[in-house]
Amino acid sequence: MTELPVVRTVCPYCGVGCGLTVTLGESGVRLKGDLHHPANYGNLCSKGAALGETLSMAGRLLKPRIGSCDTEWSEALNEVASRFGKVLEQHGPEAIAIFGSAQLMTEDYYVINKFMKGYVGSANFDTNSRLCMASSVAGHIRAFGEDVVPGCYEDLELADLVVVVGANAAFCHPVLFRRILEERSRRPAMRLVVIDPRSTVTASLADLHLSIKPGTDAWLFTGLLEFLRSSDRVDRCFVTEWVTGADKALEFAALMTPTIEATAGVCGLDVNDLARFFDWFASTDRTVTLWSQGINQSATGTDKVNAIINVHLATGRIGRPGTGPFSLTGQPNAMGGREVGGLANQLAAHLTLGNPAHHDLLQEFWNSPTMIRTQGLKALDLFRAVEEGSIRALWIMGTNPVVSLPDAGRVRDALSKCEFLVVSDCMAETDLAPLAHVFLPALAWGEKEGTVTNSERCISRQRAFLPSPLNARPDWWMVSEVAKRMGFEAGFPYRTVREIFIEHAALSGYRNAGERRFDISLYSDLSDDDYEALPPRQWPLSTAEPSGTQRLMVKGGFLGGGAKSRMVVPNLDQLSEKLTETYPFALLTGRVRDQWHTMTRTGKSFRLNLHDQAPFVEVHPDQADALLITDGDLVLLKSAFGQLVVEVHVTPEVFPGTVFMPIHWTSMNSTTGRVNVLVNPLADPVSGEPESKHTPVSMQKWHHQTSGVILSRRKIDLPGMPYVVAVSEHRYTRYELAGFQASGGRDFFQNCFDHFSDGADDLWLELEEADRSAYRSIWIHHGRLEALIFFGEGHWDVPRDPLAQWFGRSEILENDHAELFSLALRRRSHRDPILCCCYQVTRGEISAEILRPGGCRSVGEVGSRLRAGQACGTCRPEIEQLIQVASRPN
Ligand code: SF4
Repeated sequence: MTELPVVRTVCPYCGVGCGLTVTLGESGVRLKGDLHHPANYGNLCSKGAALGETLSMAGRLLKPRIGSCDTEWSEALNEVASRFGKVLEQHGPEAIAIFGSAQLMTEDYYVINKFMKGYVGSANFDTNSRLCMASSVAGHIRAFGEDVVPGCYEDLELADLVVVVGANAAFCHPVLFRRILEERSRRPAMRLVVIDPRSTVTASLADLHLSIKPGTDAWLFTGLLEFLRSSDRVDRCFVTEWVTGADKALEFAALMTPTIEATAGVCGLDVNDLARFFDWFASTDRTVTLWSQGINQSATGTDKVNAIINVHLATGRIGRPGTGPFSLTGQPNAMGGREVGGLANQLAAHLTLGNPAHHDLLQEFWNSPTMIRTQGLKALDLFRAVEEGSIRALWIMGTNPVVSLPDAGRVRDALSKCEFLVVSDCMAETDLAPLAHVFLPALAWGEKEGTVTNSERCISRQRAFLPSPLNARPDWWMVSEVAKRMGFEAGFPYRTVREIFIEHAALSGYRNAGERRFDISLYSDLSDDDYEALPPRQWPLSTAEPSGTQRLMVKGGFLGGGAKSRMVVPNLDQLSEKLTETYPFALLTGRVRDQWHTMTRTGKSFRLNLHDQAPFVEVHPDQADALLITDGDLVLLKSAFGQLVVEVHVTPEVFPGTVFMPIHWTSMNSTTGRVNVLVNPLADPVSGEPESKHTPVSMQKWHHQTSGVILSRRKIDLPGMPYVVAVSEHRYTRYELAGFQASGGRDFFQNCFDHFSDGADDLWLELEEADRSAYRSIWIHHGRLEALIFFGEGHWDVPRDPLAQWFGRSEILENDHAELFSLALRRRSHRDPILCCCYQVTRGEISAEILRPGGCRSVGEVGSRLRAGQACGTCRPEIEQLIQVASRPN
């Protein structure tokens, strides 16, 4: 039998950076976890496992456009180069900006950075990493002098205590979290502590959950530092040899957090719980502290990062197996972007902006005509400059700030006024697309080549396994072509992605005698074959470290040049906006388990759409009771920046007084799910990272007279309907709607479908109740079911199971009509989300198995009864959570 070709690549979603093998056969593409990749050893989460369902060409942008007209590449590139050139000539380099994405390849990033900072002469190149990782970058630089993550994933398995702060790893970094849980089941003495205001699935599986008052993390870690000092747990030898700033930081801690009681009071914690955590931390040498967006996305995010690093430096728990502060990156190539200077305050290859010697070195290496000497505009300031008109030409690549930036409505308004906006994306229909003057089709995952770096500094090859669509191009190529047309031919001669990579590698080693730890000069002269075969390896990778480096800051090997690390006195002031009578709740935003960013890819998968079907806001039962709100109601959320209507989930998982809403929904799939229209554009003054975890909002029940469900084979518009959510399901799209008068239903709905109909062989069947309180309709076109409409007073529920088969039938017979009309029930539905998307098992079904007499007491038992948790395993933490809750004494 002939062996099918196998391509090794990496998952395009979170910062864990799991390896995949892709087998290409006649029956299509088969994706599996790569058994040999050090991030995942064969495991994948639900998102990674469903990648095969997201590869369709549906919705792709396949031709360059100028305005609304398709054009050829040469014309589009000429237009971009000419408009950028004019702005440069008339208004100078500061009037040009690029906003990129951590979905770009490192090579894309490298070329953009070189173009902007070495040729255009503007540092206005920022990316969506500003929204998720900038505080960690700033904290690392303050502590270590360089943006380095000292540890590796293996440390999480070697640790005796893992502390997770502000991260719902079970949902956002599932494969890594599974590694931790599996290790704990092998070594029950290993402890997991979770510090998070929300009682997330991650928190529910901890040995100790500290439900901290939002925003007080730096207080907690400063209190811990004082506890370590007063209980004589500071490693004085280590501190003397390797750390500066310790005396000041320790004095500050003693002054601000003199007792555990004082710290517990500020942090809203039970003093015994806090004391237990402090004891565990003090007495456990092998401790890793993990954090993510709950720490970074804050007006004091950098200080929180440094407060965490301080306790590791004070105890010497860094650079050794099973120890270290560890920041988890949210995006697949946030780390790669940081390596090549993909932020407005960075230079390439970990050179320092503001260091004249580094500016000169880079200018010499690039042989560039101009070299930036000062920082550019960070994301929020960059879009304000667009609003003010000082940035006149902007290129946005692979990201959607109209959805993802705080005060998103204002960002959209600003972009609609931008003199010249270029957008490159692989999808044709996004919230940003209508604003673009030039729209360039980019390659998608599966089509593009390059490298990415995950949270543990591991560089992996992303390899193409699908043919490139005729007119889509890699981002590095687009930028190089524009650069050439602007007269910068000499700097952008690249023909392949390998040529870019080896230049990037050579720069990292250029005049670097070890003072910059980012060094991959081992790769400076890779051949095409070498590059093709590049295995996943952790940097630094030099002739001195040829197989890569698991840990940095191993004793005696601190930062380059023998510099010491620094303990920083954190700012403990609350910079966040205060809650008021008008806006009494703090809104925090985050991710859900099975969606990624704006859902352009995950939204294509029927399975991934099952876990969370519509945008929602979580509220604590006490607040819901006070507002007479019940689970499943629609509520109106308002902030000083905008408002939206969303379904409410009442759950004790949120901290009282806070509400949680996910980030993924856009105008493409909901009328009012874009949470960032509410979010306060306040940023950390050090890192520039926006505060996405605290916006004062109000909430009230949204009274609507009618609601309904449409199931349609075609995508439809429902103009004027105030609440609409669209979910792609198998063979059809499901639209949930609310707000319209039932009596106007008939004309309204028929109009929505009118333009699809060719007038021939159409059958519209309608049923309207005598009091006109409900309207049901079936559209059959050429014998096939095209749409079902159920609308009117009350709440409509259409059971999911039987629908796909109706849409799969080649013919609908007259006998079927009555059954179709009766598919919808007018009743209040009980929310029962699907936890196991692989086998479509609901939470209710799993709970029933656990709660029945002699019911299941392990994830394995649930799996053997229902199959839940037996495929990708992403739902296992949620099943374990249900078992734990059921096992607690009443
Ligand atoms: Fe992809 Fe999931 Fe791995 Fe993250 S944990 S890289 S989303 S498979």
